[in-house]
Formats: sequence, structure tokens, C-alpha cells
Amino acid sequence: MTIDLHTHSTASDGTDTPAALVASAVRSGVSVLGITDHDTTGGWAAAAAAVESLQTPFTLIRGAEFSCAYFPPSGQRRIGLHLLGYLFDADHPGLKAERARLRENRRGRGEQIVDRLVAADYPITWERVTELAAGGSVGRPHIGQALVEAGVVNSVNDAFAELLSSASPYYVPKQDMDVFAAISMIRAAGGVPVIAHAWARTRGRILDEAPLAELVEGGLAGFEVDHADHDDADRRRLRAFAIELGIFTTGSSDYHGTNKSVRIGAESTSPEALGRLLAQASGVPALDSSAGSAVTVGQR
Ligand code: AMP
Ligand code: ZN
Ligand code: FE
Ligand code: FE
Repeated sequence: MTIDLHTHSTASDGTDTPAALVASAVRSGVSVLGITDHDTTGGWAAAAAAVESLQTPFTLIRGAEFSCAYFPPSGQRRIGLHLLGYLFDADHPGLKAERARLRENRRGRGEQIVDRLVAADYPITWERVTELAAGGSVGRPHIGQALVEAGVVNSVNDAFAELLSSASPYYVPKQDMDVFAAISMIRAAGGVPVIAHAWARTRGRILDEAPLAELVEGGLAGFEVDHADHDDADRRRLRAFAIELGIFTTGSSDYHGTNKSVRIGAESTSPEALGRLLAQASGVPALDSSAGSAVTVGQR
């Protein structure tokens, strides 16, 4: 049984529809799937419907990946980070308003990045990028797809290497949520907050042990440790630190369909960690297929 708690659909910047995401999971032997689109629960209903009709035991963990920032007390520059929220009540007003604000900011910021690229004569349009986003949360991968279509780069990954990197002159940051506010709101909505790819060093600056411990003080429930952006040494250190802090660790693919090369189920979470996550959740339940649950009784 493979437990993969972090994946993206067309509700944000993945290329599988929510139903196709569930089908990809089944094909790859994933039987507990987290759907965690950026700043939206827009894929929840379609994923739930797809799971409901499955003929094999399968469990859907509804979640989202929130765009957050840590603001150092000393007034140094903000550090962007991603916070996974699992099984929160999607109707919790504060959190719902924040998701809407974050998505709106993604549109404005995406358009600004496109404006900068257009000003430098790259042959893309904002209209095409919004078509590619198809109503989901807009992200740099959609701009990357437009750059691939225009023949500027060969892949979305190549687009990220330079034009879309955070060091690029075309880059515009997002107006993210304060991570402590996000942790509190996810908890208030009955959800379970887990920091995504905490030490993804290639994406920019990261939080070292002291601020990570502050987040745990603030209610953080777990670290995502097994992730393609972490090397073995960082995985060992993060895992040991989580044990020290008394929190659980997860592993996930962060699958984005063909926008990234990672396969669904490439990294996974232990049944024990899933049990600890489920024990803290009270917003919405994990959803089982009509053929039953993929989660064993002890984890319930
Ligand atoms: P944004 O949310 O608009 O800042 O874009 C960041 C998103 O792009 C994250 O979800 C990443 O998973 C994704 N991403 C980061 N690096 C790459 C890459 N090299 N190729 C494809 N997608 C990437
Ligand atoms: Zn993404
Ligand atoms: Fe992320
Ligand atoms: Fe992600």
C-alpha cells in the first residue's frame, strides 16, 4: 500500500484532472491519495466522485497547499514556504477568504510576470496563460507551458531553470499568508498543517531548525521529509529533528502530471504517520471508495 499525500491536479498547476489524478494513483499502486492543489479546494468534489465509484479499496485525503511566508523577527527578508493543510473544513470563513485572496494574487502576479516577459519580446500572452490555467489557481508552470508552446524553451523544467526562476529579472513574488496565521487557521478549521518540502534549497532560502521549532510551537503537526527536493543528508536531519520535537514526518511525490518529471507514488508516507495525521483531523473525514477503505483500523 502506497500513501502519497501531496499531489496536484488541473485545479491548480497539475496536468491531470482530479478524476485522472485518482486514476493515475490507482494505476501506480497508490491507495491513499492526498489532493493538495495550490490555494484551492476546487478539485475536491471531482476527486471525491472519482474515488466513490472505484472498485478497489482507496482513501482520499482532501487538502490544499497554502502559499505562505515566514517573516524573520529581525526584519530580514521574508522566506517563502508551502504549507500543506489536510482535512480542514473548506467552509471555514477565514481560511476560505484567504484562499480566495491568494488565488486572486496569483492572477495579478502571473500577469505581471507575463508583462515583464512580453516587454522583453517573449512571444506569449496573458490570455493564453489563463486559458492554460483553465479556471484553476494560476502558477508559473502555466507560464512555462505557454513558453513551451511558443517554442522559447523545450520544457516547463527548462523554463524554471532561468526565465521563471526566483532569481530571474522577470520574477514577481506572491503576497503570501503569514505562516503562523495559516497554521492557526488550518487548526481552527479542524485541519492538520504540515510543512511541505521544508528544506527545498534550490527553490530559495529555507527555514533552519530554530524557526521550524517556532512553527511547531505555533501548531505545526508534521514535516514533509521524503520529497524529491531533499537529499539524503537533509532527510536524515529533518527526520531526527521531527523525532526530537515529537511530530510526525511524511513523504510525498508532489506529482504535477507532465508539468514535472516526478511519478505519482515516487515517495510515500508510513501508515503510522498517516494514523497520527488522521487522529488530529476534525474538519472533514477521509473519504473511502465504495469498495472500502485503504486505511487500516489502527489508523482511523
Ligand atoms: P508558483 O506557485 O507560481 O510560484 O510556482 C511554483 C510551482 O511550480 C510549484 O508548485 C512547483 O512545484 C512548480 N515547480 C517548481 N520548479 C519546477 C520545475 N523545475 N518544473 C516544473 N514545475 C516546477
Ligand atoms: Zn505546483
Ligand atoms: Fe510546494
Ligand atoms: Fe506541491
